This record gives sequence, C-alpha cells and structure tokens, in this order.
Amino acid sequence: MKACTHGVLAFFDDLEQAPWNLIAQIQDNCLSLNGVVCRSCGEACDDSVIRFKLEIGGKARPLLDETECTGCGECIAICPTQSIQIHRLPETAVTEAQASVGGAKQA
Ligand code: SF4
Ligand code: SF4
Repeated sequence: MKACTHGVLAFFDDLEQAPWNLIAQIQDNCLSLNGVVCRSCGEACDDSVIRFKLEIGGKARPLLDETECTGCGECIAICPTQSIQIHRLPETAVTEAQASVGGAKQA
C-alpha cells in the first residue's frame, strides 16, 4: 500500500486497517426465502460469496459468507426486491476479518 503515488492513502486513517469495512446482508423479503425461485444475487457475485441451501417447502435460504464479502455492491442492483442492504462492520469485526484473511494467507 505504501507504494501508491496517487494520494489515495490520505483517505485511510490507519494504514493497517482492512481496505473495506462494508458487508451485504440479505433481508427477510428475499424472494428465495419466500419460496420464489431467484438466484440473481448469487450469480452476480464474482466471488461466489452467496450460496443457497435448499429447505423443505421449496425454499432456498441464501447464505452470505461474511468473511468473504467485500461490500462491493454488485448483488444489490440486481436484486428485484431490494432485499440486500450494505452495512458497515463494527471495528472489532473488521479486525477479526483481517485476522481471518491474514490467517488464510499464511495457511
Ligand atoms: S436477488 Fe434478492 S430476491 Fe433474489 S435471492 Fe438474492 S436477495 Fe433474494
Ligand atoms: S457485496 Fe459484493 S462480494 Fe458481497 S455478496 Fe454482494 S456481490 Fe458478493
């Protein structure tokens, strides 16, 4: 990060902080949660962060891996029911996510 010559680093209070602290969350009005076939968000996510777990009654519960979501917002625009919201992670969660990413890289 310190190699940046475009002044972007001025936007970061702490250079050790993760570059993102936003995360998507799926709300209860999701079509798939209510028995209507929809996988649009999962298909839109390049990182395959959203997967679907089949449940009794024809529902498929969207499962969003919070440790992998970058908060990029790709899934939001495509959702036909505006069921996805972006939230800011609390500071402690950001630190845990950083540890998780760091741990994954070391493995
Ligand atoms: S795109 Fe929206 S409605 Fe469709 S599965 Fe995802 S959250 Fe649910
Ligand atoms: S915000 Fe981006 S990374 Fe997170 S689930 Fe949506 S498309 Fe995937």
